[in-house]
Amino acid sequence: MGLVIVGSLAFDTIETSYGRRERIVGGSSTYCALAASFFTQPGIVSVIGEDFPEETIDFFKKRNIDLEGVSKEAGPTFHWEARYGLDPNQRKTIKTELNVFENFKPVLPTKYKKVDILFLGNIDPDQQDDILVQVEHPKLVAMDTINLWINTKPESVLKVLEKVDIFFANEEEIKLLTKQTNLIKAGKRLMEMGPSFIAMKKGEHGALIMGQEFVFGVMAHPCEEVVDPTGAGDAFAGGFLGYLDKVKSFDQEAIRKAAVYGSVMASFVIEDFGIDRFKSLSPSEIEERYNTLKKLVSF
Ligand code: AMP
Repeated sequence: MGLVIVGSLAFDTIETSYGRRERIVGGSSTYCALAASFFTQPGIVSVIGEDFPEETIDFFKKRNIDLEGVSKEAGPTFHWEARYGLDPNQRKTIKTELNVFENFKPVLPTKYKKVDILFLGNIDPDQQDDILVQVEHPKLVAMDTINLWINTKPESVLKVLEKVDIFFANEEEIKLLTKQTNLIKAGKRLMEMGPSFIAMKKGEHGALIMGQEFVFGVMAHPCEEVVDPTGAGDAFAGGFLGYLDKVKSFDQEAIRKAAVYGSVMASFVIEDFGIDRFKSLSPSEIEERYNTLKKLVSF
């Protein structure tokens, strides 16, 4: 397998200034895999309840996403509820119902064990660690997390962090984890903790990628209508890692372009609620936006 994505498959209840949607399909691996599917054929490791819609499973299959690592358990699917303020960068988690995720013991299908790129999306860090011990010499391991785990299981988060190559995190999570207010110092501190690259997501301001020898800034595509910011971070990781899997290179040029594709994929997902924008998205729109971002920073 080229790219395997571990993360939640979920129902989300979302309220933004554009309205409220109850129990629409979301989840960290949903957003990440759909974004990556425009570059490669990713596999998902996750768990769903009996209530997860068949229609979404069909959509994943249509996008050539491998679902051998998804198990179906008795009980309801993971449910998350969040509310965004007028500033779409500010969100409040109202409810997290782990449901079938609570006792999830991820087991990797044999064909996933020899994976090139493994993405440990936002789930319990102990479950992320359970996956890590099952893979055989991946070329690149990336990780994401959220405040909930940094606050409740900091030692487990640090244990996983030690073993990964790329850490995707937003400014708030980085500051919480390092107790540093300066992002560059925080990035250096994080690199001492394990990863070789830190992908710092800065919402509407784009992202900063830090490596041992370089810092690369990528803009967010200027969007007038941010309908639902949910999944932007996962779509960023999906575009980033999907592109790296496509070009089969991890050199600095590939990492820079991957960050731009990540930013492009994030900019699409926020244009509509949930995963709806992925349903109409075409490869030519992705290339067009990639070129727009290139022009924006050329001088
Ligand atoms: P993002 O907006 O990229 O941070 O990702 C949002 C997605 O993460 C939503 O679709 C949620 O279903 C999912 N999510 C939120 N909290 C958790 C959690 N504690 N564990 C797993 N997935 C979560």
